[in-house]
Amino acid sequence: MDEATAVREWVEARAEEMAGLLAELVRMDTENPPGRGLGICAARLREVMEELGFAPEIIPLAPHDRLEEPCVVRGQVGEGSEVVYFHGHFDVVPAQSRSQFAAERRDGRMYGRGTADMKGGIVSMLYGAAAARELGLLGGGRIVFHLVCDEETGSDAGSGHLQGAGLIDTSARAMLTAEPTAGAVWHASRGALTMQVGFAGTEAHVGQAHLGVNAFAHMVAVAAPLHDLARELLEKRTSFPMGDDAVKGSMLVVGGASGSGVNFNAVPGSAWFSIDRRFNPEEDLDEEIARLTDVIDTAAASAGADVSIEILQRQPSGSTEEDHPTGRALAAAVAEVEGVAPAFELCPGILETRWYAQLGVPAFGYGAGRLDVSHGPGEYIDEAAMRRCAAVYALFAARAFR
Ligand SMILES: [Zn+2]
Repeated sequence: MDEATAVREWVEARAEEMAGLLAELVRMDTENPPGRGLGICAARLREVMEELGFAPEIIPLAPHDRLEEPCVVRGQVGEGSEVVYFHGHFDVVPAQSRSQFAAERRDGRMYGRGTADMKGGIVSMLYGAAAARELGLLGGGRIVFHLVCDEETGSDAGSGHLQGAGLIDTSARAMLTAEPTAGAVWHASRGALTMQVGFAGTEAHVGQAHLGVNAFAHMVAVAAPLHDLARELLEKRTSFPMGDDAVKGSMLVVGGASGSGVNFNAVPGSAWFSIDRRFNPEEDLDEEIARLTDVIDTAAASAGADVSIEILQRQPSGSTEEDHPTGRALAAAVAEVEGVAPAFELCPGILETRWYAQLGVPAFGYGAGRLDVSHGPGEYIDEAAMRRCAAVYALFAARAFR
């Protein structure tokens, strides 16, 4: 029997066990924000990894925002010195309805918050790693698990801690994360830059408007050139492949959130808006900060506005060569299980791969879930696809160590 068939059979024999674990994880509400129930979910994951013989530990993290018991669950499979990381996150975005925590099974699918993004992916990784070990495929290699708790709100507590504390081995062969790519391989991701732009004016009664300084008017004056810039940036298209050509432009959203501090019958004494910039791998974080700051400062100076800029999020983009040997190993593993080679694409959002790629570790996203249902009210994962994905992970680990 060839390796792919052996792995498939090993995983298929555990179909009910995998579905049961996924249902259990989905029923644990780990909505983030605010970051509920993270300690409870981590404890269960630790227990499962213990049962699978993955020598797990929980690394508690310092309090962060409203996260409940933030931590990283770490474990390893195999004895070898060469490392491949299996990376996942167990927080989920807020549900549209409480019924999404019921983990409903129908038509070969499991429905519920986090099934695709990415508790289903974690189940695939756990069973894929176990299959690789049980079938003796790891050779001189070792799979290290990093399961983090705060991917949905910026990853400072989870992956940021792993990187900051030196817990990522920079000589690792590869990192793989189970984001919902629907069978494509994400080998690159955009960077993110979020700013809050504030305006200070002077509040005055509407009947004495001449005494006020209208912060909202200043905001409009500064927002206008940013809006022009957003149109310009959309023309800067990435050369990385993406599923939909229309999303290849470099993104800038002006005023995703905005406000002013007063009632309608007063001159607003303060106002603010957000700008969210998602830049392509060809673009540089520091250059983008300088570009936006320059447009804002120039417009503010000509409007006579008192402006302040706060950077809320700054994440560089990241990419790994498509033809890197570990990328080819992943493509070969996918082809063995699915019968066709996967497409390599740029992830339209930001991706945890960046924390590893920044350190020179080849990093990829690959998962069975679908991006278009993730974060939505009808989120689901196809159970058979989740099992095939587990087989891909097992074969990838085997191939990456050869
Ligand atoms: Zn995710």
